Amino acid sequence: MRTLYDALRRTTSVIENCFAAVAQKNELGFHRNCCMCLQSSRNIVCGYCFHFICRFENSNCSTATNLLEEAEFVKHLETPHYDYLYATGPYQWPLDMLVQDLKFHRKAYCAKALASLFHHSVLQHSPFEDEHRPEVLVPIPLSNKRHRERGYNQAQLLCNALSKLSKIPNAALLKRTKHTQAQSELDRAQRQDNIKQAFVYVSDKPYKHIALVDDVITTGATINEACLALLKVLPELRITVWCMGLTIMKPS
Ligand SMILES: [Zn+2]
Repeated sequence: MRTLYDALRRTTSVIENCFAAVAQKNELGFHRNCCMCLQSSRNIVCGYCFHFICRFENSNCSTATNLLEEAEFVKHLETPHYDYLYATGPYQWPLDMLVQDLKFHRKAYCAKALASLFHHSVLQHSPFEDEHRPEVLVPIPLSNKRHRERGYNQAQLLCNALSKLSKIPNAALLKRTKHTQAQSELDRAQRQDNIKQAFVYVSDKPYKHIALVDDVITTGATINEACLALLKVLPELRITVWCMGLTIMKPS
């Protein structure tokens, strides 16, 4: 199946232009084609492709479960400074393809597809009402340099799409204070040093429950550092993390 997808997506620039046209339509809300297989579809990801997304609800762990309660996931993470962790699924094909298209191939419409998958896989099955409902969604910010290079912050695009689906507002409450090397290029120990004191909270609102939004979590070092910036100002804050993919590191 993957070969078929890859063949489809590698073909000529004519097809690539079709993707762009589809993207524009999807950006405007006209879902006439699936962004993954280009079949006619009312949704941005068709039911057929949705079936191939490996979600935690398909494994032993229900998406309604806070992943921090699952030892299998926690063992891969730095000791978390957040209270809840929800993800669509493992960071593997085809979820990784959507994330990489969003981050590195200027396919901003993939944010809408990823948010839709998170909505169907997590939000519809999880207790996000009453005291479990975050007051605001906060994107993990990029440095100014990376923002200029990429042209947008993928976490902000995810927040925009997730706000529409969840009816929870979003706000850029964190600012990146320094440019850092891409975490994906570093090992576990280097990741912590690289991201240290990289964020500052830039709001004066006394929030009680915030959801941090990011595309992928590996060790959670970036999210943890963002949490420390929030907790420094709001020590009683409850923090939920919503991420689209969770990298399951192989034992070394
Ligand atoms: Zn499809």
